[in-house]
Amino acid sequence: MDTRERRLIVEGSPCDTNYFDKSLLTFADAQERGRQMCANYEECQRKPMDCALRYGLEVAKYVTKGSTLEAELAEFSQAPFLDNLFWDSENRMEFIKLNGKARFLKAVERFARSVLLMDENVHVLPHCNSCDGVKLTTTVYDSIHDGLQELSGSGKTKPRVVQYCPECEQEPRGQIIPVNPLDEIVEDMKIFSGE
Ligand SMILES: [Zn+2]
Repeated sequence: MDTRERRLIVEGSPCDTNYFDKSLLTFADAQERGRQMCANYEECQRKPMDCALRYGLEVAKYVTKGSTLEAELAEFSQAPFLDNLFWDSENRMEFIKLNGKARFLKAVERFARSVLLMDENVHVLPHCNSCDGVKLTTTVYDSIHDGLQELSGSGKTKPRVVQYCPECEQEPRGQIIPVNPLDEIVEDMKIFSGE
């Protein structure tokens, strides 16, 4: 499989460079072709709005510097502007306005994959069938309530990994799991005795 020269990714802009052109592999190729202005450029200048292509390129830059798509998308999912309306395109010819955090993340990943010449139809993040976005993974901490009285207990928590769609579902929270304190004591004794 072809790879793109790192300089073309690190120094380029999706406004001037057509990363959808898979024959564009080096910085020298881009210089030779000259500025390839995005079809949405004027509209975008008139009404500046978030662009999935711009963020997708940023993610791709970090991946070329040694990070992974998983790590970069997890970090990007924390960005405060993901509920904004944004531009997306699959060819840099036709643009659509979309919104929703799950779709924003999906669009950013897809363009990062285009830039990196990876398969655009595969996703690091699982697909949400309800909104056509992607799901996030988070860890919640369930509290173990083993007290004999309500809301009392040892303060033990247990991590649980959950997937959820940031668009269709509430961000999951830890739950309270009541357990019989006697069962817990038996469990603790087993650990202690090495059983
Ligand atoms: Zn969804």
